[in-house]
Amino acid sequence: MKHKFEIPEEVKNISQSLNDAGFENYLVGGCVRDLVIEKKPKDWDIATNATPEEIIKIFPKTFYENEYGTVGVVNESAMDDSLKTVEVTPFRLESGYSDFRRPDKVTWGKTILDDLARRDFTMNALAYDIRKEELFDPFKGQEDIKKKLIRTVGKPEDRFGEDALRMFRALRFASELNFAIEHETQIAITKQAELLGHISRERVRDEFIKIMMSDAPALALELAARLGILKFISPELEKGIGVEQNKAHAYTVWEHLLRSLNHAAKKNFPLYVRLAAFFHDVAKPHTKAWKNNQWTFYGHEVVGARLVRAVLTDLRFPKEIIEKTVKLVRWHMFFSDIEEITLSAVRRIVRNVGTDLIWNLIDVRTADRIGTGRPKETPYRLRKYKSMIEEVLRDPISVKQLDINGADVMKLTGVTPGPHIGFILEILLSEVLENPALNSREYLEKKVGELCALKSEELVRLGKLARIKNEDKEEKEVEKIKKEYKVQ
Ligand code: ATP
Ligand code: MG
Repeated sequence: MKHKFEIPEEVKNISQSLNDAGFENYLVGGCVRDLVIEKKPKDWDIATNATPEEIIKIFPKTFYENEYGTVGVVNESAMDDSLKTVEVTPFRLESGYSDFRRPDKVTWGKTILDDLARRDFTMNALAYDIRKEELFDPFKGQEDIKKKLIRTVGKPEDRFGEDALRMFRALRFASELNFAIEHETQIAITKQAELLGHISRERVRDEFIKIMMSDAPALALELAARLGILKFISPELEKGIGVEQNKAHAYTVWEHLLRSLNHAAKKNFPLYVRLAAFFHDVAKPHTKAWKNNQWTFYGHEVVGARLVRAVLTDLRFPKEIIEKTVKLVRWHMFFSDIEEITLSAVRRIVRNVGTDLIWNLIDVRTADRIGTGRPKETPYRLRKYKSMIEEVLRDPISVKQLDINGADVMKLTGVTPGPHIGFILEILLSEVLENPALNSREYLEKKVGELCALKSEELVRLGKLARIKNEDKEEKEVEKIKKEYKVQ
């Protein structure tokens, strides 16, 4: 069928070179779908009847290092990142999926129809011939795009049986495109959910990240819960379903987390903030207890930090994302009572969550409030928080920022290297956290003199106390909560 799309010059040129060398070639996959939807494609893929070796011969700069025959054609001068490499792949034909996740062998197909037939959804099984300006649509993808429907190419049971990850891909596209999943396809997911147990955690993670980064992540996650595949992201999430909270919360734990996440997505927050918004109350089901005529969730942020670390580690998230998310979950309960916040309390929060994450913590808090159905903090309160944070950001919050260091302490006192030096610095920091004006060389030297006059046991005792006060009390709290609520 004739169809005119705007194609970037870089892509046209690659296609032209393949034509000149006598090879058939088509735009395929996500980029054709996006052209039909009138959305800017993220990347450009070409399928051809040339072999990898033949493709490599045609272009000056390529790379080829994968088992699928994909050759990356490099456009060094392209301004747009999405055009810097264009992937050119021989027509493929796949056969035999004995482990539910990848074809036993990849073989080259003869025709574009072979190649489209192995693709996951009808909307992703379109091909565009640039030279002839013709759209090739053997599985009625355009019709489904018009209806905003995700439907597998062929029988859904068969297609999910070949590669179970396609179930998560269906949900991911639903969230990214705001499409519905066709009924039979949904039923097939509920029937074959267990096959996802064969899929590597990395592949699940990649789809989960795309869901999280979409505009409406709650759509996919709600579907995941309804179709029984949420547990393959994490069984911990399922535990929040139907868990009621107190009157102040209109929503169950699960609903609240979805709403918080959707707000974070609406604000276009980065991945780790979205993850924190989604997991911040994940431990509420574990810590729920009836006390003084109401439900309490004492320590849920401490247990939650542990749980989210375990969940993200299991999904093989990069360490940096895990650390940031864990901190945001751990400290999301920071000062709820504005009248009582002191600058030293703010200083401790900044110290615990870190100067790089403090503003993200405010964002998690906002998402949390909106997710509860409460309005945003009043502009006055927010301004007040922010000004207090700005103020303490100028203050010393770690031993490193003291106006004196370990070497100075040793010189002053003649104490040899060892734990005593650390304890002295910790005691100095606890004073400076209360009152930053004390961070002067003169005062600190005087204080060091006093501390040195103490008996060794007394210094150790004060040092340990200061450390507990300065650091988060995570270990102690966790022990207590574990005992109280029998969490492992
Ligand atoms: P995006 O715009 O997010 O990149 P996409 O549709 O291009 O979306 P990709 O994961 O990049 O998605 O895959 C490119 C194309 O390859 C898809 O459009 C689809 O035709 C095909 N494809 C990818 N993964 C699978 C799979 N597991 N099974 C079948 N076909 C797949
Ligand atoms: Mg793509």
